Amino acid sequence: MGEAPTHIPQSLQNGRHFETATTIGDKTYVIGGADGETLSIEVRIIDKCLGQWINPFVLGTKPMSCGGHSAVFLKDRILIVKKNSKPDDHTWFLEIDTPYVRLQKKVVGSEVVAWSKGVVGNAEKPVVISGPSGVGKGTLISMLMKEFPSMFGFSVSHTTRAPRGMEKDGVHYHFTEKIVMEKDIKDGKFLEFASVHGNLYGTSVEAVELVSDAGKRCMLDIDVQGARSVRASSLEAVFIFICPPSMEELEKRLRDRGTETEEQVLKRLRNAQTEIEQGKSSGIFDFILYNDKLEECYESLKKLLGLDGGVTPTPKSAPSVINLPKDHSVSKIDDKIIINCMSPKNLIMLDVSSLKGGAPGRTRGLDFRAIDSFSDGC
Ligand code: ADP
Ligand code: 5GP
Repeated sequence: MGEAPTHIPQSLQNGRHFETATTIGDKTYVIGGADGETLSIEVRIIDKCLGQWINPFVLGTKPMSCGGHSAVFLKDRILIVKKNSKPDDHTWFLEIDTPYVRLQKKVVGSEVVAWSKGVVGNAEKPVVISGPSGVGKGTLISMLMKEFPSMFGFSVSHTTRAPRGMEKDGVHYHFTEKIVMEKDIKDGKFLEFASVHGNLYGTSVEAVELVSDAGKRCMLDIDVQGARSVRASSLEAVFIFICPPSMEELEKRLRDRGTETEEQVLKRLRNAQTEIEQGKSSGIFDFILYNDKLEECYESLKKLLGLDGGVTPTPKSAPSVINLPKDHSVSKIDDKIIINCMSPKNLIMLDVSSLKGGAPGRTRGLDFRAIDSFSDGC
């Protein structure tokens, strides 16, 4: 179905440079040039049946334009290897027929493509923690991050609620306006979102990916609706529900915390009953923990996460990146991409047989290996 990417004839380029064209069925994906407003790489499609250009709805974070790229078609996406780019920015995927893109085509009702940045190595499954307000989720997550700072990172959510006394923007939450958050949700920037206790909360794709980029396991503190959305998404995670020992104790903790008005406390307690019922019965959660004695609950949480061995596990370092020289050409043999670098001359193999994730987040599981080197005389 796919054809080798070709460089577009000058007549078609209309003065545009560094474009590739990849034909798949009736459509040719023209990738390159620059989007005038943002200087990101642009995508246009020639529909041979209709005989016209289509400007698709482009989801995901777009790569910045560069001095050209190579393009290779892989089953349901186009691999882009940028020239003249930084080591952590040279591999991208333009998804054209992945499950995510097919779903978005139905939602949007028109042509959709989605960008995803390629990343070396894999990330550990994120941990989703849910439970009623005041049960101790934040306390348990803080204890874990304090004891294992290099292993866990917190997914900083967006919310439209006002900050509490000690809360810092960008640390506890990204405090935002409803109108801004709604636009970002529409643009596909959120993994999940929900209206909780009268405010909008959501996890951006970037919040989770940033933690994984740093080689850490991502912790999400989200409500049951959010957990359900994550469960239905392509993100594989471990889901843990925290229960209070009783409603009386939950009320005591919420009141003693002293961060909510009386009206807000009552609203949170009203919602707690439903949340607990859903948490216990919905089948979303892999584990339920009772937070009665804090230390005991924390030990159980560590056990679930494989941290009870007495020996502090060695933190995983952030995956290394490979430098590609400015100029190269790319070819494909089965699941292996051969990158023929010009100066210095060498061959690099990119294994794409175990890709994980994808748009709207990163595509992980890339494996680069130097397979040969040869002198200038060759
Ligand atoms: P959440 O993040 O679930 O809303 P917090 O972590 O803010 O809840 O905890 C609410 C309050 O309860 C805090 O004041 C915290 O110190 C306290 N707390 C947490 N766990 C326990 C526990 N097991 N026993 C008593 N108090 C607790
Ligand atoms: P709080 O206002 O106490 O910080 O949080 C209230 C509720 O919102 C908690 O149950 C918390 O788990 C949930 N919450 C926080 N961030 C998110 C998020 O990004 N998405 C969803 N769905 N819920 C969130």
